[in-house]
Amino acid sequence: MDIHIDTDVCIGAGQCALAAPGVFTQDDDGFSTLLPGREGAGRDPMLREAVRACPVGAIRLSDPPH
Ligand code: SF4
Repeated sequence: MDIHIDTDVCIGAGQCALAAPGVFTQDDDGFSTLLPGREGAGRDPMLREAVRACPVGAIRLSDPPH
């Protein structure tokens, strides 16, 4: 599972960091970013909640190509 944040779409609402604080954080400008080393955190149970919580749909989950 890859986690992709579309930084062109992200408005820095911070909902993802609230929903899944183990995966997302906010950078100095308030935009969402993955916590270091959490790029492979696809199994975090709160991840899908964070995807749903994002008001602009900036977070995409994708399975790695086979
Ligand atoms: S919830 Fe969406 S818009 Fe808000 S910081 Fe996270 S990715 Fe960006």
